[in-house]
Amino acid sequence: MNRTGYFTHPACRRHEMGAGHPECPERLDAIEDRLLAGGVMDALERREAPLASTSDIELAHDRLHVAAMRGLADQVAEDAEAGLMPYAQIDPDTAMNRHSWSAVLHASGAVLAAVDAVMAGEMENAFCAVRPPGHHACRGRAMGFCIFNNVAVGAAYALRRHGLKRVAIVDFDVHHGNGTEDIFAGDERVLMVGFFQHPFYPYSGTPSPASNMVNLPVPAYTRGPAIRELVDTVWLPRLEEFKPEMIFISAGFDAHREDDLGQLGLVEADYQWMTMKLKEVAARHAQGRIVSSLEGGYNLDALGRSVEAHVRVLADL
Ligand SMILES: [Zn+2]
Repeated sequence: MNRTGYFTHPACRRHEMGAGHPECPERLDAIEDRLLAGGVMDALERREAPLASTSDIELAHDRLHVAAMRGLADQVAEDAEAGLMPYAQIDPDTAMNRHSWSAVLHASGAVLAAVDAVMAGEMENAFCAVRPPGHHACRGRAMGFCIFNNVAVGAAYALRRHGLKRVAIVDFDVHHGNGTEDIFAGDERVLMVGFFQHPFYPYSGTPSPASNMVNLPVPAYTRGPAIRELVDTVWLPRLEEFKPEMIFISAGFDAHREDDLGQLGLVEADYQWMTMKLKEVAARHAQGRIVSSLEGGYNLDALGRSVEAHVRVLADL
């Protein structure tokens, strides 16, 4: 059996938020095409993501938020049926269509199934090719293309249902993972390390609100070497000290220099290097356990190449 899982579901492709929206279904096609063309897919254990239960979603989200999203989903389904508005707008950037409810449950379900598979020793690590992304979704609020926080749901599930005592969340998206921070700030069972362009959407994360949040704001046009130095001098020592039993990655690829949604200057080799470093930490403390889940990344070509670089390291290719 292959040691790296690839979790996805067709429903994640059917969620869309209107023509021209950068968080589009074609993102998943770009990833799949690239992994197939490069022969990487053959080396992965491909699994269909199950639906998450709402009780698992509620490990990281308020019951009211989950109910509100379900209500919106019902409304948009009725409206679409009646030939009315095909979208329910949540904020200027974020909407649901009639497939979104299924997409969000499969997106979180992918991370949960990946946690189960990795904990059972069926695989060492996994990548979840899912949308909508999650890291802006707060405990009680959807925003920034995100409805439920897939990685936070997975981390809470690993703590609660698998009895882990320490999990790390690494966020290398160009945007601050404010939702994950909202859910876990002050929870000492979780260490979150991230860098993000600042000042920039969502204008949060600095100063760090709690000692378990290692936030590294960086100015626009910061490039790979400077990021690697921060990873080496700040992330890695904190991770080593924390000794996580599992590492989650909020894997956004919009810090790539070809991505117009951010202004950082990473390239594929930087994602490859960061993944290698995280694998080393996971090997030392977490029996290799890594669950990585797609967040941003909007230049389709750069996204495909960056995910390939990331997954190749996960799969030792
Ligand atoms: Zn982003």
